[in-house]
Amino acid sequence: MPVFVTDEEGADGGMSGESESVTNFSGTPAWWSTQILTEVVRSDDGVGDLLRLLRERGRRAFFIVDDALACQPAFKPILEQEEIFMFRASDSEPRTGDVDQLVAMLRDKKNPPDAVAGVGGGSTMDLAKAVGICVANPKPAEAYQGYGLDMKRGSEIWVLPTLSGTGAEVTPIAVLRGPEKKLGINNSFTAPTVAVVDPRLSAGVPKFNRFYTMMDCFFHHYEITKSRTSAHDAVGDSIKGLEMARSVLSRDLAVYDPDAAITSAMASVLGGSSSIGGRVGVSHAISYGLSNSSPKLPHSVAVTISMLACRDVYDGGGYDDTVGFLETNGMPLPRAADYGIGESHIAKMTATALGMEKLWQSHFGDDWRGIVDSGFVQDIYKRIVAA
Ligand code: NAD
Ligand code: ZN
Repeated sequence: MPVFVTDEEGADGGMSGESESVTNFSGTPAWWSTQILTEVVRSDDGVGDLLRLLRERGRRAFFIVDDALACQPAFKPILEQEEIFMFRASDSEPRTGDVDQLVAMLRDKKNPPDAVAGVGGGSTMDLAKAVGICVANPKPAEAYQGYGLDMKRGSEIWVLPTLSGTGAEVTPIAVLRGPEKKLGINNSFTAPTVAVVDPRLSAGVPKFNRFYTMMDCFFHHYEITKSRTSAHDAVGDSIKGLEMARSVLSRDLAVYDPDAAITSAMASVLGGSSSIGGRVGVSHAISYGLSNSSPKLPHSVAVTISMLACRDVYDGGGYDDTVGFLETNGMPLPRAADYGIGESHIAKMTATALGMEKLWQSHFGDDWRGIVDSGFVQDIYKRIVAA
């Protein structure tokens, strides 16, 4: 059985995860406090455990798998499954049209599977989560982008994350790009039933994604710790997650490192748990405007660009860390212009961002309208397109 070893004995009761002597990740006690809807299986044989547990619980799964895994021998037993769809996450984050296509395919089956298993990063897990719930609901997926919509429970959803940071492995959210907007299906039936977490499955992730998805994790934790409307438990999980994300991003992530992978996987779960009851803030509000104006801009890069333009909002804190992490990793400052975003998009981006009312309230409190108006938001986007 593979073994995880770090060279220090933990002095902090495993709080950071990094300095804990992790000899067997599968024995790690729960490190989150917020109550989550997902059973988190800590594993040192993620592929084997996923297939074994599905079998033991009598589930026949339809697998949705990130196609970047097709050439990695560790995933061979999954690739040999009969019912499988390979999703090209490198082309696009999941679209409502992808969900509709897969739902139609499942509905056409004479003997439909009773579980959908997503194997990949946040994009692939969210696609599986959206398919799992939408299969039981009659309208196209875009009709369910939003909050508080009446939906029926669908198939069981199982996930095997292969890239750490989004927390999608435990959230009741499936973020989708729709014809109108990028927005999640937010519904408790979207939460995975089971997440099998094996940090080593991220070994083949390119540096760019290892870095940027952890940046998203850092921003989730950072913004929740600065939020005025987040629940106590959520902030507690984010304080832990922030320390972990910082420790990972403060090293050069060029080469896969098992210790950093474990810390990243733990920080990612905390990112998910803290988002239940926790709320992100300004960088995320700004990022949604950017994402809606550029179909190819990854979410993690959009939030980074946003934080770089929000130095004043966060009194330099998030900004200074962001610049430091980019420097340590030899990454150039990301620019909106590289993703086709310019002056002409400012009006639309401003309208999108202003619509994220809960996120402004999260950062500025109930009187946010006294501070945030279209001029305030436009100024941020002007800085972004001029960078
Ligand atoms: P991703 O899933 O888009 O993957 C990024 C790249 O990494 C892709 O090219 C993919 O093929 C590759 N990849 C993944 N695992 C790999 C592996 N083991 N080996 C080699 N390549 C691998 O990236 P992400 O940052 O994890 O997810 C982004 C999406 O998640 C966005 O749509 C974002 O909005 C969403 N998101 C969702 C939640 C949620 O709670 N549901 C939270 C935050 C973000
Ligand atoms: Zn995010």
